[in-house]
Amino acid sequence: MAKGREKHQAHLDAINLLGKDLSRRASQKCELCEGKGDLRPYDTAPDDEPSLDTVALLCERCRALAGGKIGPQETLRFLENAIWSPYPAVASVARAAIARVDADWARMALEMLG
Ligand SMILES: [Zn+2]
Repeated sequence: MAKGREKHQAHLDAINLLGKDLSRRASQKCELCEGKGDLRPYDTAPDDEPSLDTVALLCERCRALAGGKIGPQETLRFLENAIWSPYPAVASVARAAIARVDADWARMALEMLG
């Protein structure tokens, strides 16, 4: 049990160490919607060693979105751009989210991804 907790803490420490580089990459905006509300690193691969490829800087709403909570769909059009992000963590969160949106624009965006 203690071992697991230590491992968890080491993982969190590693994410915190990425914080500065992540904020710089994101220009201190949410990497999905460019909002500025309560930005925090979101870990897309909790079982892997954290890196800039697995962590995205997200606002509160987008962290909920990444966790599976789709809000009002018409407010999610920013996903159309975010799915093309050059950063794997951002693109994967955006693609997973847009796949759950039940709207024509979302289906068209996914089709363009191929
Ligand atoms: Zn956001």
